[in-house]
Amino acid sequence: MAGATITAKPQPHLLLKTVVLATELGALARGAFLFGWREGAQRSGRQRRIVFRAIMPGPDSLDIMNLFFRAKPKIPQSTILEVDGVPVTIAVRVHARARSYRLSLPHASGPVLTLPPHGKWAEAEAFLLKHRSWLAARIKRAPEASHFGDGGVVPLRGVEHRIVGMGKVRGRVERVELDGLPTLLVPGEPAHQARRLTDWFKEEAQADLAARSAFHAERLGVHVRSIRMRSQASRWGSCSSTGNINYNWRLVLAPPFVLDYVAAHEVAHLVEMNHSAAFWATVERTLPDMDRGRAWLKAHGRQLMAHGA
Ligand SMILES: [Zn+2]
Repeated sequence: MAGATITAKPQPHLLLKTVVLATELGALARGAFLFGWREGAQRSGRQRRIVFRAIMPGPDSLDIMNLFFRAKPKIPQSTILEVDGVPVTIAVRVHARARSYRLSLPHASGPVLTLPPHGKWAEAEAFLLKHRSWLAARIKRAPEASHFGDGGVVPLRGVEHRIVGMGKVRGRVERVELDGLPTLLVPGEPAHQARRLTDWFKEEAQADLAARSAFHAERLGVHVRSIRMRSQASRWGSCSSTGNINYNWRLVLAPPFVLDYVAAHEVAHLVEMNHSAAFWATVERTLPDMDRGRAWLKAHGRQLMAHGA
């Protein structure tokens, strides 16, 4: 599966910080040193400015100016977060094109926290702390285990989603963004959540696979009679010479190019009912970059099959 990622927009600049600093300055003023601050009359755009003015020049005013500008803590290269009692090193990056704070778990490395160019470390840290449990769930998840209930994490079309149980509320499974996290809201009693979620995945899979099968059937000039979702933990798809195709619903968990490859493969069997060179040439005709999906399944297929037994 593709690496997991969560994001959050930076907070708007806070005027409050300036006010707090001004108060600090007041406490530090000493002796004959006088200072004052006044609200600036000028407004730039929507942002009101507070102008601090040191009345007496001298070394003290320099200290105060330092205080004024020290508000921005440096952004470290990495930070350590305790996740379930275990210290985890998080790499920290500032990305020129990032628009939001982002926490990601690439498969090839440890967690990475990305800040936009104008991001603030305090905000980044708060964002990280807020999503500690998300990180814990993602780090702990063994490849062969998958939890389809509240608090679990499951991929949908290659993107990790957090599962949130909605208790006894009736209704459908809903895909939403919650606190910047892709989330699946699953209604119903906890005991039935796994089944409801699986049923929903099957519907989503059916829609995606019907669309991609129709696309490839048209390109190859064949007719697909029916499409059914199956749970067999051993195969991704099967096809009869009469045009009935069975697919594994778990394909909807994988990145879309993987599902597309399996659809192209099964539809190509309606032209060539074998795995001959002619068959592979047919798959390639309708899906020129078929190798990508094939390679992905070889590398991650077993993990994918472990979901929602
Ligand atoms: Zn085949």
